[in-house]
Amino acid sequence: TIASQAQGQAAYAAALQALDRKHLIHPHQNPTRTERNIFVRGKGSVVWDAADVPFIDGMAGGNWVVAVGHGRAELAEVAAAQAEKLEYFSLWREYSNEPAIRLAARLAELAPPGMSKVHFTSGGSDGTEAAIKIARRYHFERGDVGRTWLIGRHFGYHGTTFAGGAVSGMDDMHYGAGPVMPEVTKVSPPMVSHPEMFGGEDPTEFLVRELETEILRIGPEKIAAMIGEPVMGGGGVIVPPSDYWPRIRALLSRYGILLIADEVITGFGRTGEWFASAHYDPDIIVTAKGISSGYAPLGAVLMRDEIGETMVGNPEKFFFHGLTYSGHPVACALALVNLDIIEREHILGQAPKIQGWFTEGLDGIRDLPIVHDVRVHGAMVGIELVADPNTGEPMPFDRMVALIDDLRGKHRVLARDYGPTLVVGPPLVLEREQAAEISTAITDVLSRAIVR
Ligand code: PMP
Repeated sequence: TIASQAQGQAAYAAALQALDRKHLIHPHQNPTRTERNIFVRGKGSVVWDAADVPFIDGMAGGNWVVAVGHGRAELAEVAAAQAEKLEYFSLWREYSNEPAIRLAARLAELAPPGMSKVHFTSGGSDGTEAAIKIARRYHFERGDVGRTWLIGRHFGYHGTTFAGGAVSGMDDMHYGAGPVMPEVTKVSPPMVSHPEMFGGEDPTEFLVRELETEILRIGPEKIAAMIGEPVMGGGGVIVPPSDYWPRIRALLSRYGILLIADEVITGFGRTGEWFASAHYDPDIIVTAKGISSGYAPLGAVLMRDEIGETMVGNPEKFFFHGLTYSGHPVACALALVNLDIIEREHILGQAPKIQGWFTEGLDGIRDLPIVHDVRVHGAMVGIELVADPNTGEPMPFDRMVALIDDLRGKHRVLARDYGPTLVVGPPLVLEREQAAEISTAITDVLSRAIVR
């Protein structure tokens, strides 16, 4: 009967919950919350939990990952075929494998001109690590041995490993973990929703001056690189003014400092382009997530030809960096077909559509007293909330969590809280009705939230 089937599902879900609690130390785990949604299958922009309840996946696998949507048989088939043919062979030393070679060549075609060199990673954090080592080594090999400092931004997110965490702008990441990697400084993010940060000045003017002052304070000859996300994701969808990156780029070039674009979220279509940084000429691009849509863990660091040549241009010294799974054949074979799907289904055209649907769907929340700002950029949505519109006090963590719970519990919509910002970053195959459903759910939840 349906009743006994439901009972069976509930028991299955409860058993998984118990095992999870007993054994798993989750990434980014909130110790006060142990009740989880355990997802067991997906299709497009919908996922089903262990109790067989469907949810609209407003976060592309919870983490801006699944660009082409869940449950693609074509990708499962290519993974199986590659695993059967050659599941793994290393790229280290004198070895190589075909899917890695083909994917590197494909990425070089998609990358901005003059960036035909690719180093594979397993994800974004180790991509940041690689990019930082590559930037420092580049200067070193050119005899510019003093260039070791790095510039990040407050609210930036580049991973939780030691170097990635050091250049990120979230201090809690280091709690209890001892000394943070030195020789890192941070500048302000282009948070235009807070004009008070810029003292009434044009944000770009302010930020370019702040950066130059910091460069001169440290000494330009000591600085290797600046890292930044084209649009900040983990900081709460912070969209810079259009002249921000071109001017930052020009300033860095004047002082010989490399620019690393962290496109782990923005790469492969989330802002409507293959790479959101293409128009402002970064030196190194870090990618992950959308490169394989999460069907296997994978990242790639793209770099200007000259930088790549420098890495392997010293016959005395190895490029002594890389992980066992750099260029994993199954992951690379999957990524190639994932890129085919993005091309074949014109998925780069989705981001502007998704932007339009959310802009329209969220129109009604702009005037709510708790809503400070609504930012929609491609398939990235950030709704910045305040607890008290009079003081501007940001919405506190516990209330953000309650709003996310309400969206999930009442509307079966998955979204995320990043500080005081409610975030949506769906699969790029999201459909119009699904965007409308998410928008309606958010409007309902925020309309019922109490103003203090
Ligand atoms: N950079 C950015 C911009 C990210 O959003 C993330 C992950 N959310 C990372 C780096 C780290 O990537 P990973 O979790 O794959 O190590």
